[in-house]
Amino acid sequence: MNAKQTSENNADPAELARFNKLANRWWDEHSEFKPLHRINPHRLEWIDSLVSLAGKQALDVGCGGGILAESMARRGAKVTGIDLADKPLQIAQWHAQAQGVDVYYAKSSAETWAQQHAGQYDVVTCMEMLEHVPSPAAVIQACADMVKPGGWVFFSTINRNLLSYALAIVAVEYIMRILPQGTHQYGRFIKPAELLSMANGAGLVLQDKRGLGYNPLTQGFRLHGFMGIGYLLAMQKQQKL
Ligand code: SAH
Repeated sequence: MNAKQTSENNADPAELARFNKLANRWWDEHSEFKPLHRINPHRLEWIDSLVSLAGKQALDVGCGGGILAESMARRGAKVTGIDLADKPLQIAQWHAQAQGVDVYYAKSSAETWAQQHAGQYDVVTCMEMLEHVPSPAAVIQACADMVKPGGWVFFSTINRNLLSYALAIVAVEYIMRILPQGTHQYGRFIKPAELLSMANGAGLVLQDKRGLGYNPLTQGFRLHGFMGIGYLLAMQKQQKL
């Protein structure tokens, strides 16, 4: 698929239907979204330590019910969240309003939003989303287009290898049943080198990286150096020469 595509067709209807179906439990910390709730304080802290969110223009791509978007707004960023699934967006809007947190939500793909918002953001986040789209390269390009020169783009996704298959799919979906079966497709997992190469191609330069560690006993997450399963990349758009 063309990395420059701009329509809404870089989305998998089955993926969007799955998130629509689960959306009413998005803010239930004991639901399928428990992992996102548990991961969030760690990724938020990491992002904030690199960019100082207060006062920054931030865009959260594939924001879902708004766990990250809302938490960035609480840190003082001016946040927009976009997603293509209706129900998560409704839940996100409702939750932010109920909490008195100011976040602007819109239904859009990254590619379409980029047509109107090139170079507008200090920070773009795209977390746990690339492994759900047919052409991650197009989303990565759009994220790069939307950030200002010198601005930051954060990606997180799941590595593709035997270990990530055994843990992220077999253990998480079939043995521990933390996530519903079919949540993740192995073929859509992305190796760090692949993500890096797509992001470099879009003009982004790696600044920091973290692996996502999970402890099944405490059900807690932490960021560490091992990137074999889940991982996060912090990238900066090159300044124009
Ligand atoms: N980024 C959020 C939610 C991750 S769940 C977080 O980490 O907390 C993945 C989200 O990506 C879902 O809300 C789903 O609707 C959205 N999504 C999947 N394909 C998409 C696409 N092509 N464009 C925009 N959003 C998409």
